[in-house]
Amino acid sequence: NQALLEVKELKQYFPIKGGVFGRTVNHVKAVDDISFTVNEGETVSIVGESGCGKSTTGRAILRLDNPYSGNVLFEGEDLISLSKAQMRKKRKDLQIIFQDPYASLNPRQTVSQILEEAMEIQSVVPRKDRRKKIQELLETVGIGAHQMDRYPHEFSGGQRQRIGIARALSVNPKLIVCDEAVSALDVSIQAQVLNLLKDLQRQFKLTYLFISHDLGVVRHISDRIIVMYLGKIVEIADKKALFDDPKHPYTQALLSAIPSTNIAEKKERIILKGDVPSPIDPPVGCRFHTRCPYAFERCAVEEPKLMNVGNGGFQQVACHLMDEQAK
Ligand code: SF4
Ligand code: MG
Repeated sequence: NQALLEVKELKQYFPIKGGVFGRTVNHVKAVDDISFTVNEGETVSIVGESGCGKSTTGRAILRLDNPYSGNVLFEGEDLISLSKAQMRKKRKDLQIIFQDPYASLNPRQTVSQILEEAMEIQSVVPRKDRRKKIQELLETVGIGAHQMDRYPHEFSGGQRQRIGIARALSVNPKLIVCDEAVSALDVSIQAQVLNLLKDLQRQFKLTYLFISHDLGVVRHISDRIIVMYLGKIVEIADKKALFDDPKHPYTQALLSAIPSTNIAEKKERIILKGDVPSPIDPPVGCRFHTRCPYAFERCAVEEPKLMNVGNGGFQQVACHLMDEQAK
């Protein structure tokens, strides 16, 4: 499989201003040097607690916020080097779906106007074909073309998310970033929308970067999973490896908290001590050492690098235990 998206050494630091002159006195290191690849047709998920940098990563890839440093290669082209106007054109290839579609759907536009506007901006569909395309899209996402002249408030949360999906699809994207796209929905509706996303992926050869705090949801949809903690990637693995044999202590703790996973059946729930430290002044060494049940001296001094531990499959872990065990 070919790489569609390559994120290289991405950093997103937000300045904190202070003092009389309002100079930058410090940074929130929201994303701190992460690299990963998303292959064509794949669904890669990013999981972690709120504040771990997962949404920030999604926004930086789409340049909704310009990153502090690093590269984002899309089909080999660095998006970071594009001008604003060039990036706007690129948006037809890279779309995003948010948690709350209502906030991003103009309440004064009908569904067909919303879709029409998206097509207009990207000029991907000739004007004369748009009405037909809108009807098709609405059928595809399960809304029904007869509802095209209704307004967003006339729909339920799940239906609105379907409209958000239709809007993303209206410009024929290659990659869709789904940022907590089903998190606000009831569990039964979640499953329907996830199944829809899977169907659409097959139908339109889509690639997803799926951002979620919910490992249960992620399990449903992912090929590979990235676990983030405090701005860093701690583990990346094929779904099976991650759920059957999580290697990073943080991944183990996250998994132990969701029922019906092997690890939760086999082991006690791992309760982490303390809170997530501040991303302004993150712990040196391993960022997880202040909460890790296995931390030892080296963890507070040396930062662990991601290393391959995969047994045939794909699994990378950033934890000193990996080479201690190998010794
Ligand atoms: Fe825990 Fe040390 Fe591994 Fe970090 S490097 S996860 S502190 S054992
Ligand atoms: Mg978020």
